[in-house]
Amino acid sequence: MSNIAVLTSGGDAPGMNATVMSVARNAAYYGMPLIGVKRGYNGLLGRTNNFDDNFVRLDLDTVLNIADMPGTYLRTARCDEFKDPQVREKSAQILRDLDISGLVVVGGDGSFQGAMRLCELGIPCIGIPGTIDNDLSYTEVTLGYDTALNVCVDTVRAIRATSRSHDRPHVVEVMGRHCGDLALYTAEATGAEVVVVPEKRWSVDEIAAQCNRQLDLGNPRMTVVVAEGCWESMAPFDVYKFLKPHGVQVFPGEPMTTERLTQILKYKCNGAEFRHTVVGYTQRGLAPTARDSIFAFEAGALAINLLHKGISNQAIGMKNGKIFHMPMADALAVKRHFNRKLHHLLNAL
Ligand code: ADP
Repeated sequence: MSNIAVLTSGGDAPGMNATVMSVARNAAYYGMPLIGVKRGYNGLLGRTNNFDDNFVRLDLDTVLNIADMPGTYLRTARCDEFKDPQVREKSAQILRDLDISGLVVVGGDGSFQGAMRLCELGIPCIGIPGTIDNDLSYTEVTLGYDTALNVCVDTVRAIRATSRSHDRPHVVEVMGRHCGDLALYTAEATGAEVVVVPEKRWSVDEIAAQCNRQLDLGNPRMTVVVAEGCWESMAPFDVYKFLKPHGVQVFPGEPMTTERLTQILKYKCNGAEFRHTVVGYTQRGLAPTARDSIFAFEAGALAINLLHKGISNQAIGMKNGKIFHMPMADALAVKRHFNRKLHHLLNAL
């Protein structure tokens, strides 16, 4: 039986290893040996002829040991060279030479683009949406999102405990790139009073007004959750011009950050002692939740089932708790939906 290959690409996400385990177990069921590709598409570039530099044979023993591990055993890396058609042609030949009859790609929309291009070259590919950002709209959730959301919720709960103790407001930044879901649902789950997302054009004055409203309501211990991508869509604000007269060490042209916002809010909110926390990479580094592990298993099983049936160029997703697949191009064309109603409600309370 010919080989199956699997790679993880883009930002790492909890559940990637669990997916590799599922792919391995299901491939073994059909008698198809599994080869792991190292460092995303980099392993397909043929930079060296040494198999072990670029690939690893994944036996069941190995994958059972990594299944619960956060991160990705196969490693992941961005690989700009793969956008070059000549490079991809060489990669396709490498896969043919290894007698690989199907490739499972775990990653985000960029990784899916790479997989679609490989399909055009006759390499059957299946995409599994591995990213904590939840920015692929064809699926209700992406793999790793639930784990990251739980990290954010735990962190904000911990921060709110100390905020309550000191009657002090706090700004918390969570990941998600251009997608505000992690911020929105963290705020909903924790009772955070203000949530700032890239999907709406916020201004610093609007954020300050929200905080002042909370102070007027007698709530000095509010939490402001901001999505890391919100700065790009935010109305321009001259950080230097505002902070310099207050004696803050600041450089001309400095961009807005969570730390700077916190300093600015102090002056716009009657001296309130705002603190800030950037949740950062801990969002990507925990063992997958049961929900993500289950998604990983079902996605891996479906991927192998499809490849075994000769079906490819499909993206796997989750809808109403059920695993499904659809053509990758159609999946990527689905317009993103953001829950504006909830965003409005949370900020209105
Ligand atoms: P994500 O998969 O999380 O969206 P990226 O956008 O960085 O992350 O994409 C991951 C990798 O997918 C890129 O480093 C590149 O190797 C590959 N890729 C992205 N876009 C394309 C494209 N248009 N054509 C071919 N490969 C692509």
